[in-house]
Formats: sequence, structure tokens, C-alpha cells
Amino acid sequence: RHAKESGRKTVIYDLALDQAIRMESEILHRMRASVRRGELEVWYQPIMHLGSGRFTAVEALVRLPDGNGGYYSSEQVVDLAERRGMVKEFGDYVLDRAGRFMNSQGSELGLLRMCVNLSVQQLLVGNSVEQLLELIRSTGVKADQITLEITESILIQSVEFARGALEQLRQTGLHIALDDFGAGYSSLNYLFNLPVDVVKIDRSLTSQIRTNPKQNTLLRAIVKMAKINSLTVVLEGIETPEEQELIKTSGAEFVQGFCYARPMREDELVSFLKERNLEKSVGSSYNN
Ligand code: C2E
Ligand code: MG
Ligand code: MG
Ligand code: MG
Repeated sequence: RHAKESGRKTVIYDLALDQAIRMESEILHRMRASVRRGELEVWYQPIMHLGSGRFTAVEALVRLPDGNGGYYSSEQVVDLAERRGMVKEFGDYVLDRAGRFMNSQGSELGLLRMCVNLSVQQLLVGNSVEQLLELIRSTGVKADQITLEITESILIQSVEFARGALEQLRQTGLHIALDDFGAGYSSLNYLFNLPVDVVKIDRSLTSQIRTNPKQNTLLRAIVKMAKINSLTVVLEGIETPEEQELIKTSGAEFVQGFCYARPMREDELVSFLKERNLEKSVGSSYNN
């Protein structure tokens, strides 16, 4: 009886594992195929400048079609690409698309910056700093039109390596944003000691400001400290009108979230920016 029980457990375990492995290899297969065929999608989420109400930046976000009209979770896709050594192929693809778009249409749509997520693996194994800069140059975009978003996991190898790489990137005029600040073990030290230009405050901090007064105070303190160090602050994940109202006085300059704009395809972005940035500037000059 004993043997039979443990036997059954093994079967259940194997099934779950089997399913997970099959799911992973399906995603990997689709990832390779869609990169090869140019069918991996890059969507863009507009970022609003609070002072002017204009959308002066966008963040490029990868979208891998699942073959059923939907998309895989980007977090899962990126995690898998990192673990299975596909991050260079995949990261280069996104940067290339986003850079070309920014170069061809960015300025006329009122965009100052294209933000692209950079996984730590891209910097450590995939792309050396030189290769990364060469890729950006090849899209025609100017370095000062690009912001690379990194997370604190960049520090995994060594703080000194990260500092060197980031400083080299920034020398060209590229901006570096520290993404998801407040989500993990983010230390206030990073705000002062990493060579970054922008800090993006994670939704886990911004989503509680309405219900939790302490969280609201904490957010304001972090914004203040970031600004003491001359960092630009972006608040991420603003979803509701109540949050929207509260963050107006937070001191942050930029906001990103579903209540301003969702991630959208390139053609939708073009219409969105034409309507919101170009017509808006005509409208507001009437009011001045
Ligand atoms: P992230 O860089 O922090 O990107 C912001 C994520 O928050 C996006 O999820 C976006 O759709 C979502 N978001 C924006 N506004 C709101 C809001 O108001 N509420 C909520 N609940 N969510 C909001 P997405 O596109 O699923 O991407 C997830 C993560 O995957 C990204 O987080 C980033 O870490 C990674 N990622 C996405 N695209 C790329 C890429 O091209 N390269 C790399 N290395 N990582 C990427
Ligand atoms: Mg990001
Ligand atoms: Mg983020
Ligand atoms: Mg994130």
C-alpha cells in the first residue's frame, strides 16, 4: 500500500511537471518563430507629463501572440527568454522596432523619449554595452531620445560592473530609468548611489495611496528624496480617478497607468498621440 501511494504521487507530480515543460517549450517555439517571421509585437504605453498634460514619452512593451487571438503574459515570456538564453534575440528585436519607430515618427507626434526595458541578462551576457549602442545607432534614433529601463536585479553580478556599464551608456546621452522601485528590496541607497536619471515608482506603492495614509506619506517622501538627487520621477500603475487626484500633489512629474492610456499597437498609438498631443496643443493655445 505504501509503495502504491507514493507511486500515485509520482504520477501526479510528473503530469504537472510535464505540462509546465510543454507550456514552456510551446512559448519558446512561438518566440523563436515570431522573432524569425517578424511577428513578435511591440506595443506602446503613453507616459504623461503632469504639468502639461502632454504624452511626451512611451514605453515599449513586448507582446507574444499565443496563437488563439491572445497574448502570453509578458512577465512569463521575459523570464523564460532570460532562463533559456533567448534574451539577446528578443531584446534586440524590441529595441530595433522601438528605435525605428521613434526615429521615423517620434518627434512629429510630440515624443521626446522612447523607453525600452533592458533585462539584466541583455547587459551581462547578450549584449555588451558597445553592441547595444551600435544597435541603437543603426535604428537612426538619437541616444538622447532613448531611455533604458532597468531593475535592481542589474546589481546581481556586481555593483561596480553595473555602475561602469550604466555610466558608459549615459555618456552617450541615453537616459537610464530604475524601474519598479518599491516593488522588491529597493533600497533608498540606489536612489542616491546608482547612476540613473529617472526612477519609476511601482504600482505596489502607488495603488495603496488612497486607502493607506501611511503609504501616501511614504510615496511623497520617496518622491522628495528622488528629487533631492535630481532624478525625474514617474509614477506607475495609476488606475483610478481617486489615485489620479491624489498624485497631482505628489511632486512627481510623470505618470503612467490605465486611467491615462493603456498599452496599444503602433497604429493606435499614432492616432492617440495625434489626437492628444497635436490637437491638444492647438486647443490649449486658444486658452492661453
Ligand atoms: P514594467 O516594465 O514595469 O511595465 C509596466 C507594466 O505595467 C506593463 O505590463 C503594463 O501593461 C502594466 N501597467 C501599466 N499601467 C498599469 C495600470 O494602471 N495597472 C496595472 N495593473 N498595470 C499597469 P506588461 O506589458 O505585462 O509587462 C510586464 C513586465 O514585463 C514589464 O514591467 C517588464 O518588466 C517586462 N517587459 C515587458 N516588455 C519587455 C521587453 O521588451 N523587454 C524586457 N526585458 N522586459 C519587458
Ligand atoms: Mg518598464
Ligand atoms: Mg515598472
Ligand atoms: Mg514590472
